[in-house]
Amino acid sequence: MNNKELFEKSKKLVPGGVHSPVRSFKGLHTTPRFIHQAQGAYITDEENKNYLDFCMSFGPLILGHKDSQVEKSIINALSKGWSYGACEKYSLELAEFILDRLSFAEQIRFVNSGTEAVMTAIRLARGVTNKDKIIKFNGCYHGHTDAMLIKAGSGLAGTSTASSSGVGKTISEDTLICELNDLPALEKILNEHPNQVAAIFIEPLPANNGLLEQTNEYLQGVKKLCTKHNVLLVFDEVISGFRVSFGGMAELTGIQPDIVTYGKIIGGGFPVGAVAASKEIMEHLAPVGDIYQAGTLSANPIAMVAGLETLKRLTPDFYQELEENSQHIVNIFSEWLETNDYKDYSIKSFKSLFWQIPEKKDIQSPTEIPSNIAERFYDLFKHLLNKGIYLSPNAYEIGFVSIAHNKTVQEDFKKRLWN
Ligand SMILES: *Cc1c(COP(=O)(O)O)cnc(C)c1O
Repeated sequence: MNNKELFEKSKKLVPGGVHSPVRSFKGLHTTPRFIHQAQGAYITDEENKNYLDFCMSFGPLILGHKDSQVEKSIINALSKGWSYGACEKYSLELAEFILDRLSFAEQIRFVNSGTEAVMTAIRLARGVTNKDKIIKFNGCYHGHTDAMLIKAGSGLAGTSTASSSGVGKTISEDTLICELNDLPALEKILNEHPNQVAAIFIEPLPANNGLLEQTNEYLQGVKKLCTKHNVLLVFDEVISGFRVSFGGMAELTGIQPDIVTYGKIIGGGFPVGAVAASKEIMEHLAPVGDIYQAGTLSANPIAMVAGLETLKRLTPDFYQELEENSQHIVNIFSEWLETNDYKDYSIKSFKSLFWQIPEKKDIQSPTEIPSNIAERFYDLFKHLLNKGIYLSPNAYEIGFVSIAHNKTVQEDFKKRLWN
């Protein structure tokens, strides 16, 4: 069956044909590709057409697809068993490897996704502080847990409302929404809710609604307000963790978050998330403390091995090479956009992440994103797809460069673009 036939069949069995909405190519006027194989920087669909991939499973694959060392290690682990529901050494090794390298965390707990990590962080923050409200920013994504599917209300200033149907009506009352890059607005919210806010959740590098790089000064300001108002600071580093540096934005900025959430790279392409913090905070979790959290498949051995094999490769030299790859990719792409029908585009990039957008000026808040980007995007996306280049299939999703996007791939990117 070709992609189209597969998608038609899938739509009968699965809502919208997909198990996660962004895979549906909604608004892109083309059929989602059914991928059956991948290697390095390339994916191949069921029609045997191959694509240079910049979606990279939305971030986890910093080594590229099907890295041979990771493959070897997981096959080896697999030969011994794949789930014990009991203590094992795989997660111990991964915990030790990570915590040895993070100055702001003493303990970690592994879960199965970024969403689960955030969900646990919310409960942890509330349980530790005995406060119910949390603050989140417009333009930051924290997975699909109820408390985070909240947006600013359209009526009265300061009100919030669910951004998804099915979120209980009372839940939005406890999630306060603030604009990014606006410290006075944040302070106002804190002042209006004295002693009620458990934590401020932020993607220190907002990368799920375009790439909205914040200034160091702003992030320092958020930290200061947390300290001043006795509120926990939660860095959601599900994308930025192990991506922009081993210790993510916390390491790059030197800002100490109270709680950090991880996902994506931490599982090397397998379903893993994690919450990390000081021992004092973490030991509020069961079985030591009274905040309940659990998981039948948490710290799955195969996923732990994939994570560890991936993280072991992330040396300073690795990051240098990765960022060189990224710089070259961005340069090639920019030049092509500039000399084709996309002159109004620019590429925002940070380390190995990039985002193409029809706007030249810097953008730090979703309110500055031009309203026509989705409309402009589908033309670009389809054009590139025809050339065998696979961008993340949504105008607001960013591109991911891996270590496999090496010189040879960069040359191929050029060839495919100008072909
Ligand atoms: C991807 C992401 C999540 C959600 O992780 P899932 O594994 O998709 O549940 C949460 N927060 C951030 C910052 C993310 O990028």
